[in-house]
Amino acid sequence: MNTPKDTDQDANFDILENFERFHQKNEMFRRSQWDKSIRNEKTERFYSSHGSVNEWRRAEGFRQQDYALRNAAWHISDVFTDVHNDKGRREGFTDIFTLQADVAAEKADLGTHAEAAAEIKRVAKLFGAGDAGITAYDERWQYTGRFSDIESVEKAPEITPDLGLLSVVIITIPMDYELMKTVPSALGSASTGIGYSNDARSLIALTQYIRGLGYEAHGSLNDTAMSIPYAIKAGLGELGRNGLLITKNHGPRVRIGRVYTNMPLAYDKPIDLGVKAFCEICKRCAKSCPSKSIPMGEPRDKPLSISNLTGVRKWTVDVESCFAFWAAQNTDCAVCIRVCPYNKDFSHWWHRSARWLAGTPLRRLIHWGDELFGYGRRKKPKSW
Ligand code: SF4
Ligand code: SF4
Repeated sequence: MNTPKDTDQDANFDILENFERFHQKNEMFRRSQWDKSIRNEKTERFYSSHGSVNEWRRAEGFRQQDYALRNAAWHISDVFTDVHNDKGRREGFTDIFTLQADVAAEKADLGTHAEAAAEIKRVAKLFGAGDAGITAYDERWQYTGRFSDIESVEKAPEITPDLGLLSVVIITIPMDYELMKTVPSALGSASTGIGYSNDARSLIALTQYIRGLGYEAHGSLNDTAMSIPYAIKAGLGELGRNGLLITKNHGPRVRIGRVYTNMPLAYDKPIDLGVKAFCEICKRCAKSCPSKSIPMGEPRDKPLSISNLTGVRKWTVDVESCFAFWAAQNTDCAVCIRVCPYNKDFSHWWHRSARWLAGTPLRRLIHWGDELFGYGRRKKPKSW
């Protein structure tokens, strides 16, 4: 069987000798709970505006009804996250989901590893995934520990190698294309909230399905590990300059989720859409980012803060200035998703053709045409 490192080259990973695993405590949202240099009045207001609608502005996209839509979009995700607050858990964000029935006593026979993998992907799509891929458990992307927002303490990881969860099913959940055109706005953030709510629902259902087949399975959203390297290994996309997963079928407009399982499954291979070469000439996300958090230059191996990974040469986003912008405008941003030429409705053949050409030497022509036709421009919230 392949080891996780065997496909590093196919995945375009440039991992250096000084690589260090990451602790959840240093992830930007967790840091905003304990790091006094990050936590301030604006970050407090940012968090308190989720849940009840208590503050809004007169500006289009930031009115009461815009925040109401955003918070309603997040609500299912919030309910799953808060269900075990009394035990110090925020499931999906600092801890894995636990709303599952027991593993069945007998193991179902789903045929060969390839047949079983095809069945799991088929059911993942039935439960709402835009795409699904499977790869091997890889300790490098697992957080070295958890951080509890509620108790403000570090905790041991829940998913560990001794559990024997050798396969990881990765799902992507598309976010609404039309709402995303209105970002930055509270209205546009509803697109993100719908994505998270659908992700939680799909993950919990897929996890339960695998448990019903007689195999151990644990659903995980933003908690536990870094999703993007897993998704790249599972053949779902490539890393973009904006620091996001650029998927084949929905570009960067996705949320990601994982199910860890001991079910033997065939693994997917990384894909090559030509994203890296396209990002080298594009830079639209870097030019459009309101906080100038996205690099214009070449991939580098230097972290910009403790919230970046050490020992990987890649495009690294300044997550401190990015989050400061979110807090200042009192909702998340996603301009780097809206403007990306890969953010398209690929049900149209002409976008699929352009995507293919973007991976060839004609990429400059595609980039020029994308600008010419005005893709990525902000749609006025009132016209949504
Ligand atoms: S979310 Fe907004 S502020 Fe953050 S990197 Fe993307 S464009 Fe910049
Ligand atoms: S906007 Fe351009 S440079 Fe940025 S991730 Fe998308 S394709 Fe790459």
